[in-house]
Amino acid sequence: MLSHIKLAALRMLKGAGIFELVADSRWRQQRLLILCYHGTSLADEHLWRPGLYMDPTTFGQRLEILKRGRYPVLPLVEGLQRLQHGTLPSRSVVITFDDGTYDFYKQAFPRLKSYGFPVTVYQTTYYTDFERPVFNLIASYMLWKRRGTVIQDGSEVGLTEPLDLRTEAGRHRVVRSLMDRAERENLSGKRKDELALRLGRFLRVDYESIVAMRMFQLMNARELQEVVRDEVDIQLHTHRHRTPENEELFRREIRDNRQRLGALVASAPQHFCYPGGVYKPQFLRWLRQEQVVYASTCDAGLVTCRTEPLLMPRFIDNENRTALAFESWLSGVGDLLAFRSAASQKYIPHDRDN
Ligand SMILES: [Zn+2]
Repeated sequence: MLSHIKLAALRMLKGAGIFELVADSRWRQQRLLILCYHGTSLADEHLWRPGLYMDPTTFGQRLEILKRGRYPVLPLVEGLQRLQHGTLPSRSVVITFDDGTYDFYKQAFPRLKSYGFPVTVYQTTYYTDFERPVFNLIASYMLWKRRGTVIQDGSEVGLTEPLDLRTEAGRHRVVRSLMDRAERENLSGKRKDELALRLGRFLRVDYESIVAMRMFQLMNARELQEVVRDEVDIQLHTHRHRTPENEELFRREIRDNRQRLGALVASAPQHFCYPGGVYKPQFLRWLRQEQVVYASTCDAGLVTCRTEPLLMPRFIDNENRTALAFESWLSGVGDLLAFRSAASQKYIPHDRDN
């Protein structure tokens, strides 16, 4: 979160008309802002993880700011082409969503559609086929539901240490133990889902109703096909939401993801987004070999024609951002002042695998 001083500085700059000046400058016209979103809450997810989930009302307010501020929202491919050709309109913005969650289908997309804004979804596919909640997210959420407590005996769910749910670090340790166990025992998606059900009963959290609400689930095949018919652009995000450091495994993630998307929505995506924003230098070579032409990171910044196409920065918008900080990035002032520390992606789990 921006400090009070930074917010006061932004308020002053906006009041003095600097936002408008920068937004209409030649400097901003030569730059493309790619916005990044993850989830919009079906219940209270934004209270659990405000860096990842946004209240749908807040998201709606963002769209209104875009409209009122006359920010042209372009399709990703068009935005990048026009950036290269030097024909971007002033104040250009692109909207992207990571993961392709059910709440995108249910809440974000209808709002985007009502404004006529195009959107790109970086779709991970394992949980598109396996229509259950993403394990580490639902485990973390259910533990958060019991925050403030310490449970001494966790043997019912295979844990040897007490569960200290009073702090985020304590809850994270429990999730880590559960994930390590799942990995050690090579649990399938189905077995992990059974473990999540057991964890729910153990914590006295109503797992079935969370499942029924489709929290922490991705769009299924039918929903994905429906949004594609409505011109949503679907791009790559790995099949299992991970980027192995082994070349063969890494490239298999791209190929499996592309193959599933090809079968579901008959496209051959060439754009990619690094899961959790994590990238290593060798990934660029592997992506090129898989015919990926552009890739988005979670680093904060505007894209210029000199940006490495496989390392495009974005602005991560979430519930922690104020409308003022959001507007500062739309105008370009946020980038100029480089309040980049606020864009840390440490809160995004890296291993949303099967
Ligand atoms: Zn992701």
